[in-house]
Amino acid sequence: MRRRDFLGTAGLALAAPLPLALPAPVQADGCAPPPPLAPIRASVDRIIAINVCSRPFRAAGPRIEAERLGRKTVVHNYGHGGAGWSLSWGSAARALELVKATGERDVAVIGCGAIGLTTAVTAQRAGLRVRIHARERPPEVSSSWATGVWTPDSRLCTAAAATPDFERQWEAMARTSFRTWQTLLGLPGSPVEWHDGYALSDVPFGPGAAGKHEGEPGYAVLESRLLGDLRPVSRQLAPGEHPFAAAHAARYTMLGFNIGPLCRLLMDDFLQNGGELETRSFESPRQFADLREKVLVNATGYGARQLLGDESIVPIRGQTTRLIPQPEVTYGLYHLQKNVFVAPRRDGILVQSQEPGDFGNPDTTPDRAASAAAVRRLAALLPQG
Ligand SMILES: Cc1cc2nc3c(=O)[nH]c(=O)nc-3n(C[C@H](O)[C@H](O)[C@H](O)COP(=O)(O)OP(=O)(O)OC[C@H]3O[C@@H](n4cnc5c(N)ncnc54)[C@H](O)[C@@H]3O)c2cc1C
Repeated sequence: MRRRDFLGTAGLALAAPLPLALPAPVQADGCAPPPPLAPIRASVDRIIAINVCSRPFRAAGPRIEAERLGRKTVVHNYGHGGAGWSLSWGSAARALELVKATGERDVAVIGCGAIGLTTAVTAQRAGLRVRIHARERPPEVSSSWATGVWTPDSRLCTAAAATPDFERQWEAMARTSFRTWQTLLGLPGSPVEWHDGYALSDVPFGPGAAGKHEGEPGYAVLESRLLGDLRPVSRQLAPGEHPFAAAHAARYTMLGFNIGPLCRLLMDDFLQNGGELETRSFESPRQFADLREKVLVNATGYGARQLLGDESIVPIRGQTTRLIPQPEVTYGLYHLQKNVFVAPRRDGILVQSQEPGDFGNPDTTPDRAASAAAVRRLAALLPQG
């Protein structure tokens, strides 16, 4: 097995942000060791928010194609599973090609989540006039409740869907997105940041180390195979090189999104560039005929299931829990078997986990007991005292 595949094939059962090349432990040649890790205060009484939303999963991957509906051209851009933020800019670029092919200068975008906002801003940057129509806007969209890390192949499509053609398009999309995310570093509010992350495991890293969640299909593993050059190489840590309660550990580098400031930035950009935003709910695609624009981008995410009757979209429920912010905590954490993932966000220490039966489950009622259990699992991994 090639080194780059080493952890990638471990199956990324959570939000799954591992980059995945894990050479044997090495000395950090001339580099200063990382500073001591500030302790995470993982206790249930520090929970400040629990949010649930549905990943809009399609076995075949996102739908990005143009369709003629009456007198309108509708460019679909939905169904990004657990990778919507990660792939958004590249997906927007593909949708924009289809919009530009119509020759129209005015475009309506239906939806104001990760995909609608980035599509709208991308279209404006290409000189188009854009109006967004959406039932909800941030922070009330599903995208606002995501974990907020670069996971470009997370719950995106089944392994069977990943044909060579699909992989080529996915790779182009992911690389465009990755490049664009780097342009948003260092901005006020830190919409995008790099952090260290620690992958923990009870068994040696390798294929099958991460358990599969009940009822979920075999997802395509793309990042470790196709994007191995994009992130710094991960490093296995020897016992004593990390403070966590785990037999095996590795340090990797994660690209994180602070979703509140990020949405604020995208909204501000959109409005400052002359964008208009209308609150509107569409009950049927027939209502698209009311719009003055001849070209529409359908970025309704999970909403497309009802709006278009598209049953290829399957909800994958996901719940995130935020603990009181700790600005001194600047690292993430992920245990391959213990079903807990942590992102060090500015608006709180974000804890994410999956429950049996989340696949196909459209219920977005928060489950406080599940959040409390995830926080307790996290606490058990942390140094005591
Ligand atoms: C727990 C969890 C964690 C996640 N973590 C990550 C992560 O770390 N990184 C990552 O890349 N992805 C992550 N995802 C996936 C990501 O959140 C989704 O892929 C993304 O939010 C989809 O964005 P969207 O714009 O398509 O949909 P939404 O955010 O749902 O936006 C849809 C928009 O369309 C509007 N709309 C819908 N129907 C209608 C209608 N009929 N009429 C008018 N407007 C309508 C809505 O109001 C909204 O404005 C996560 C998902 C979950 C559940």
